[in-house]
Amino acid sequence: MLQSKLPQVGTTIFTTMSQMATDYKAINLSQGFPGFDCFPYLQDLVTKYMNTAHNQYAPMAGVPALKQRLAEKTSNVYDVEYDAETEVTVVSGATEALFASITAVVRQGDEVILLEPAYDCYEPAVRLNGGVPVYVSLNVPDFSVDWNKVSDAISSKTRLIMVNTPHNPGGYVWTQEDLDTLADLIRDKDIYIISDDVYEHIVFEGKKHIPLFSHPELKARTFACGSLGKTFHVTGWKIGYCLAPKALSKEFRKIHQFLTFSTVTPMQYALADYMEDPSRYLYLNKFYQEKRDLFCEGLSHTGFSFTPTEGSFFQCVSYGHLSQESDFDLAVRMTKEIGVASIPTSVFYHDQKDHKILRFCFAKEDKVLEQALELLQKGIF
Ligand code: PMP
Ligand code: GLN
Repeated sequence: MLQSKLPQVGTTIFTTMSQMATDYKAINLSQGFPGFDCFPYLQDLVTKYMNTAHNQYAPMAGVPALKQRLAEKTSNVYDVEYDAETEVTVVSGATEALFASITAVVRQGDEVILLEPAYDCYEPAVRLNGGVPVYVSLNVPDFSVDWNKVSDAISSKTRLIMVNTPHNPGGYVWTQEDLDTLADLIRDKDIYIISDDVYEHIVFEGKKHIPLFSHPELKARTFACGSLGKTFHVTGWKIGYCLAPKALSKEFRKIHQFLTFSTVTPMQYALADYMEDPSRYLYLNKFYQEKRDLFCEGLSHTGFSFTPTEGSFFQCVSYGHLSQESDFDLAVRMTKEIGVASIPTSVFYHDQKDHKILRFCFAKEDKVLEQALELLQKGIF
């Protein structure tokens, strides 16, 4: 009998809830993906490259033109330089970037600080590498960081801290003060950082995503993981990237070349051309803010309590003042009884801590959001 390396792991909540939404013909605001297509021009570019024999293995670290575009984007948007040749690697989704960077850093017995609620792919990757997760709860309900708790969690065995800003599911966006405090805490320690920045272009009310690599001390220790699937409404293409200083990228690539070797070719050429015009990703803040505002306006006519999210395309709502039902049971019941699927946030905690908070994805057509709101406004309790 094969002894499981991940005995506690089952099917992810995203798969489970999306399947349930299909089974019960519910509106799927659970798994995070856009309910609309990418722009036709991007598809035309992929077709062009497929039709012109760009269908064999891409270079291991990515198509040079795309690496160059990613370096340019980082320079233009954040004023931070990465060398396209040696410090930018294109991989098969942020999921691969996260797995490869965790694998590059974590050795047997190393402690890894996970800020909970934490995205679901971090912990299994840490465990598969023999690491020991150390959990630190974010403040509820705003999901800001309790730096005293982080400080207490750091030990001589701490090797890595996982950061996610803007945060999934909470939407919290790290401040300059957060970056400075982290830098103070790990100065003179042999600790690395993986920063999951997949929602970097989805930040609201004029706030800015402040990448960890914008802090020079942090940059030297950071693997920044991004997702072009998120940014260009093509989550199914599974294209992501990792920005890291040369020595870190060198180790990262050693893992990447044996994990997937290279990433889908025609899409990389297409995205390189498409990213030529920065307005094609810089419009996202406004685009998603309109959806967030529409969704929050509708939510204000339900019994849920919430603060509009600062970033990402997720909105969390609390219902503890209305019911003590578990968040999982409520998410299931809402899918079956009122036809709207969501994610119970307890799944983002190792001990399923239930703060009575549900997460909705508002990356959907306005008419779909309006239909969902109408159903939610009928009430569930
Ligand atoms: N990190 C976070 C916080 C996410 O929400 C997701 C889901 N898109 C990922 C990583 C994975 O990104 P990708 O689809 O590019 O693998
Ligand atoms: N990142 C998406 C979410 O948080 C899910 C992606 C997946 O299903 N792996 O909902």
